[in-house]
Amino acid sequence: MLKTAISIVKKFQKAGYEAYFAGGSVRDFLMGKEPKDYDIATSALPNEIESLMEKTYPIGKQFGVILVEENGHHFEVATFRSDSSSSDGRRPDAVLFTSAKEDAVRRDFTINGLFYDPVQEKLLDYVGGQKDIKNKILRFIGEPHERVKEDHLRLLRGVRFKNNFGFEYEPGTKRALEELSHLIDNVSKERIQDEMTKMLLHPHRAHSMRELDTFGILERILPEVTACKGIQQTGQYHHEGDVFTHLLKALHDMPENFASKELVWAVLLHDIAKPETALKKSDRVHFDGHAALSSKMARIVCKRLKMSNDETAKIAWMIEQHMTVGTIPNMRRAHQVNLFWHPWFEDLMRLHYCDEHGSFPFDLTLYQTVMKLYDDFKGEKLLEDHFKPKLSGDQLMKLFKLKPGPLIRELLQVQREAQIEGLVHDESEARKFVEGYLSEKGAHGKDI
Ligand code: ATP
Ligand code: MG
Repeated sequence: MLKTAISIVKKFQKAGYEAYFAGGSVRDFLMGKEPKDYDIATSALPNEIESLMEKTYPIGKQFGVILVEENGHHFEVATFRSDSSSSDGRRPDAVLFTSAKEDAVRRDFTINGLFYDPVQEKLLDYVGGQKDIKNKILRFIGEPHERVKEDHLRLLRGVRFKNNFGFEYEPGTKRALEELSHLIDNVSKERIQDEMTKMLLHPHRAHSMRELDTFGILERILPEVTACKGIQQTGQYHHEGDVFTHLLKALHDMPENFASKELVWAVLLHDIAKPETALKKSDRVHFDGHAALSSKMARIVCKRLKMSNDETAKIAWMIEQHMTVGTIPNMRRAHQVNLFWHPWFEDLMRLHYCDEHGSFPFDLTLYQTVMKLYDDFKGEKLLEDHFKPKLSGDQLMKLFKLKPGPLIRELLQVQREAQIEGLVHDESEARKFVEGYLSEKGAHGKDI
């Protein structure tokens, strides 16, 4: 991809235009990280970009952004521009095609305002970005309050870059984020969700959430989460402190190979009904029914933040089931197997692991016990035969004179459970078992 990006820059320069790598890729490169993509900024106008390159898509032509496809890779090629200030804090009112320097100063943070010429191997730094990367400082380009008022999403971008990179704020930048936090209310829910997910997927997720809270932003995005502050959990568990602290610790201790979009959100939201369900009995606080109610509330949060139906369903299911894990060792084998079979079971166990880690002192005995049962099950699952009902649907209908319908499905299921529990080993035992089951049901031979 890098080679192709360089060849595009060369092409523009040969045709007499200025062209550079811009923004995130230059920053990532200077920080010793592999850039995800290469954005290119150029003096060529949108029409000129289109006529110079073979395969183009005008994804943001009015802002001067053209998507270029080359060697199977995609690159955003954008004309140098300055944005005239925004009246709604969402998008610029108009753009003006300008010079590289002006294009640098319309960007948000100094670390994002760098250009690199890969042909001359020269860095173009109009904003002091190189020094800030070296000193690990996040600093708005220009007057911080103005920059936040122009585009309110920068509140979240600021917290994300600072925390993901482990930087410090330049004091004026920090003040703007603190003092203008209320402007987050004007940002679209999709963009909020997208930024929040990027923060939650990063190992520094707990730091970002803590800081969003300190700035008063979290309360405006997720009041359900900040309501957990001050909710005490007394007793032998949870010496870590209140429910909010527990949520942050659970996020903090998440192993990196666990992190998926659904899991990080489930961990953040898994106890949000605790404030509502807290009940003090003698010297302990109980939260009866909090899993089911947290799940319902999480559904509402996910809807509000415009998550997809699939994401919402998975997050809500994990939260609803998170207290079930404790009952697995004593469950009937068939019920255990039903859960082990569930496509989201492994994520449920990951949520349980983070939940345990979020407590102090934490105890992973239950996690290990259930994972042992699950591993045994996975070994057993290879013996497909064990789970395949000995009498098929056709055989059941013939033998017991039944018609197709829900009863057949039920008989297949109870047979499978009986096999799992070791009550049925072959066809003749299955026949006896089904006979017994039907006569208990009073359904033998009847056309139902
Ligand atoms: P990453 O993709 O790793 O999140 P990035 O810096 O590449 O970080 P993008 O959102 O891909 O961020 O934007 C590319 C560049 O466009 C940024 O580096 C920055 O220069 C500029 N930019 C993006 N969003 C804004 C914004 N809201 N205000 C000002 N400049 C922005
Ligand atoms: Mg990017």
